[in-house]
Amino acid sequence: MSALPLVPEPLDVCERAPAHVRAISPYQPGKPITELARDLGMDEKAIVKLASNENPMGLSPKARTAIEAAIPDLGRYPDQFSLVRAIAERTGVPPAGVVLGNGSNDLLEMVAAVFLSAGRSSVYAQHAFAVYPLATLARGATGIVVPAKDYGHDLDAMRAAIRGDTTVVFVANPNNPTGTFLDADALARFLAAVPAHVAVVLDEAYNEYLPPSRRIESTAWLARHPNLVVTRTFSKAYGLAGLRVGYALCHASVADLLHRVRQPFNVNNIALAAAEAALGDDAFVAASREVNDRGMAQVTEGLRALGLEWIPSCGNFVAVRIPRQDGAAPRAGAVYQAMLRQGVIVRPVAGYEMPDYLRVTIGLPGENARFLAALRAAL
Ligand code: PMP
Repeated sequence: MSALPLVPEPLDVCERAPAHVRAISPYQPGKPITELARDLGMDEKAIVKLASNENPMGLSPKARTAIEAAIPDLGRYPDQFSLVRAIAERTGVPPAGVVLGNGSNDLLEMVAAVFLSAGRSSVYAQHAFAVYPLATLARGATGIVVPAKDYGHDLDAMRAAIRGDTTVVFVANPNNPTGTFLDADALARFLAAVPAHVAVVLDEAYNEYLPPSRRIESTAWLARHPNLVVTRTFSKAYGLAGLRVGYALCHASVADLLHRVRQPFNVNNIALAAAEAALGDDAFVAASREVNDRGMAQVTEGLRALGLEWIPSCGNFVAVRIPRQDGAAPRAGAVYQAMLRQGVIVRPVAGYEMPDYLRVTIGLPGENARFLAALRAAL
């Protein structure tokens, strides 16, 4: 690699950013309610946002109380000790194997910072969560995209795609935006087949939405697979997306590496306090799951009544296929826009190579009904 010239030539500062950074297409978040309200001159309260897999119940009352109690100490830097210990007790993973993140997104970035750089590669599935390519490309590494099978991860193909320069495999379970789920046997076989020197990130952001009978004891695999990094979040079933807290469960030696790239105070006092309260609020998580189960039934019944297809989902969202007219161009983008004009925000997923789909987050009964009515009108 040639050294940068002392006098930048050309004199455009942006051109001095590495080519791999300039090549990144930024993450497209769900449209905020406030933005649509500004765009359309609409009352924020009239808008339904089902675009970011947020918990429609908001945060738990216990988390709110903990937030209020944390305010007097905001003049001090945060101490992660208490939340790390609570997560360790909950999961059975020793505190030395628990790493906190500013959302679980932060952990995905930390894994990339630890294991990826130019000349290395990561493996992930087609239609997998957008942050895997982003975290990979930001390190100057190469992303190997493995074609999906029925919209889900093809684990055999992902194993086969691992190269000599591959240091990370990302697996989302359930995956966003497809909602597809891999069972414990398939994952155990995969872990056994992946070389021990390749880190496997098992992203369980939607874990708490699974019925307890389907939930996987993935942390039990850590003893035999020190290359495993399980990530979870407080953004979904715990209802704390706006506070940004997630965690990784891994071997202490991997955690040690993650701590080296972690910002010292990456999770703020309020978030730490709220997450600890939320972690202990089993009743709230159970209620969130129930609301989601009933909402999923309501939404899928409504889709069936509209004659639409969807990908069966294990998350708090579902990807709906918007049929083309006479085999013409995809229509999902136009339907998305037509729904926006009715004050209903869903998520287009063309960027996930799913140009015929819209992803809708399961909301409260009234929100789901608004969604179905807006979709019917838009079609
Ligand atoms: N993983 C998956 C599969 C997700 O869908 C999301 C959120 N969209 C995340 C990780 C990151 O969420 P957070 O940073 O809020 O924990």
